[in-house]
Amino acid sequence: MEEALRIKALPPYLFARIDEKVSAARAKGVDVISLGIGDPDMPTPDYIIERLTQAARNPANHRYPSYVGMLQFRQAVADWYKQRSKVELDPKKEVVTLIGSKEGIAHIAFCYINPGDIALIPDPGYPVYGIGTMLAGGVPYKMPLKAENGFLPDLDSVPEDVARKAKLMFLNYPNNPTSAIADEEFYLKAIAFAKKYDIILCHDAAYSEIAFEGYKPPSFLSLPGAKEVGIEFHSMSKTYNMTGWRVGWAAGNSRVVEALGRIKSNIDSGVFQAVQEAAMAGLASPPAFVEEICKTYQKRRDIVIDGLNALGWNLPKTKATIYVWPQVPRGYTSASFAEAVLDKAGVVVTPGNGYGEYGEGYFRISLTVGTERLQEALKRMQQSLGKFEF
Ligand SMILES: *Cc1c(COP(=O)(O)O)cnc(C)c1O
Repeated sequence: MEEALRIKALPPYLFARIDEKVSAARAKGVDVISLGIGDPDMPTPDYIIERLTQAARNPANHRYPSYVGMLQFRQAVADWYKQRSKVELDPKKEVVTLIGSKEGIAHIAFCYINPGDIALIPDPGYPVYGIGTMLAGGVPYKMPLKAENGFLPDLDSVPEDVARKAKLMFLNYPNNPTSAIADEEFYLKAIAFAKKYDIILCHDAAYSEIAFEGYKPPSFLSLPGAKEVGIEFHSMSKTYNMTGWRVGWAAGNSRVVEALGRIKSNIDSGVFQAVQEAAMAGLASPPAFVEEICKTYQKRRDIVIDGLNALGWNLPKTKATIYVWPQVPRGYTSASFAEAVLDKAGVVVTPGNGYGEYGEGYFRISLTVGTERLQEALKRMQQSLGKFEF
C-alpha cells in the first residue's frame, strides 16, 4: 500500500512519540512523572457535567447538529466576548463552532492556501499550524520566537517576497510552548502587517484565561482592525478543563468564518448538541471556577520555577499558560536533556526542538500534575542529576 505524499511527509504527532517512551519506562517498573503533555489534570466542573447529562436526555439533541453550531452556542460565545473584552460579534456571521480549536486550526489552511502559498508560523509553536499548511499543499515560513524579543516574532525581518506570497499568519499568545505574552502594541503591529500584505491573521487564544496575579491578557479581537484581517481560535479545553469534550470556536472576520464553515460542512457534521449546551453553561458561569484553577497553576508554577532556580536556573515568574520553558543546561541538547531526565529521574519533559528548530536548546514543563508530584520530580532531578551549569 503506497501512502500519499502528504501523509508520508507527516512526522508522528510529537506526543505519540513521547507516549511510547513513557510506556517503555513504565514497563520497566519506573514510577514515571510526566510533565510532558499539556492536558489539564483537574476535572471539568460539576455544573458543566450536570448540563451535559440533562441535555443528553433530550431527544432533539440526538440528531445531527447544525453544521456551524447551535445559534444559542454561538450567541453564548458572542456574549462571552462582550462581557470579557467588550467585543461585539454577530453570532450568525462571525462565530463558527469547532470540534476543538485544533480542528479549525488544521482546516483553515484548506480555505486559503493554494499549492505553493505561504503561511507564516511561529517557531517554536503548536505543530498544527505548519502541518495544516503542508496538508493543504502550502509552505510554512518559520518566524523565529527568540528570547531576546520576548518570544514575539520580528515581523520586520520577514522578507518582502515572503510576506507578499503569504496568505495566513498564525500567532498564539499567551504562548505555547514559551509561556510568553503579547501586549496590545504587538497585536496592532501584526494587524497593520496583515493589512499591508493582505494576510489573514489567525490568533490562537487557547490560554487567554489562564493567567496569574491579576494579569489579564489583552483580547486580539478587541483591537481596531482585528476583525478586518483576522479570526481568533478559542476553546473550552484549557479554561474549563474540557480537553476531552472537543468543543471550541473561531470568531472574527465574517468571510473567513463563512469559508471555514463551508469546508467543515463538507467534512464533519458538527459538535454533539449536548456538548454545546454544556459548553454554554461554562461560558455563562461566574469567574470563580477559572480563578480557582489559575490559583492552582500559579502555585505549581512557583514550585517549578523556584525549584529550578535552586538548581541553577535563573527563570523569571511566568504570567500565563500552563507551561514553563527553560533553557537546557550547558552540555546538553533538548533531546539529550529530556532523555537524561527520563532515564535518571523518571521525569518526562518535552524537548523544545519538538516545537520547531528554534525550540532547540529548551525544554517544556507542563504544570498539569499536583504539587506533591511536582516537588517529587524536582527532588529527583536534584538527586540524580545534581546542580546544573549554564
Ligand atoms: C491545547 C491547545 C489548543 C487546542 O485545543 P483544542 O482542545 O483543540 O481546543 C490550541 N492551541 C494551542 C496552542 C494549544 O496548546
